[in-house]
Amino acid sequence: MKTPAGHECPHFYGDYFRGKNVEECRLLKSQNQPWSPDLCQTCPVPAIARANSCQYMKLNAVVTRPLAALFQRRVQIQAYCEKSKQNVSEPQVGCGECHALPFKFEIKED
Ligand code: SF4
Repeated sequence: MKTPAGHECPHFYGDYFRGKNVEECRLLKSQNQPWSPDLCQTCPVPAIARANSCQYMKLNAVVTRPLAALFQRRVQIQAYCEKSKQNVSEPQVGCGECHALPFKFEIKED
């Protein structure tokens, strides 16, 4: 479903049927974090979901405000792979356990 920022996000839920206007982020809701539509503007989750759909990777989200009140609130993501049991430093790429690159380039000098 498309977020208020216009990106497809698997965690956004909107119910507009018969005059309803219910919107929520089910990722943040599941982790007891406050959500407001402005968070979707800078949230990295839609890009992560587009790049990596690994079923074993779980996202933990927290809402932070970098440098106290200077910047707007943002969603920060930490990813964890339930298969390889390790933190995933680059969620767009994954941990490399299931989807290792299939080939290596070697440049030989003659
Ligand atoms: S805050 Fe992020 S995860 Fe939540 S609905 Fe918006 S884009 Fe999706």
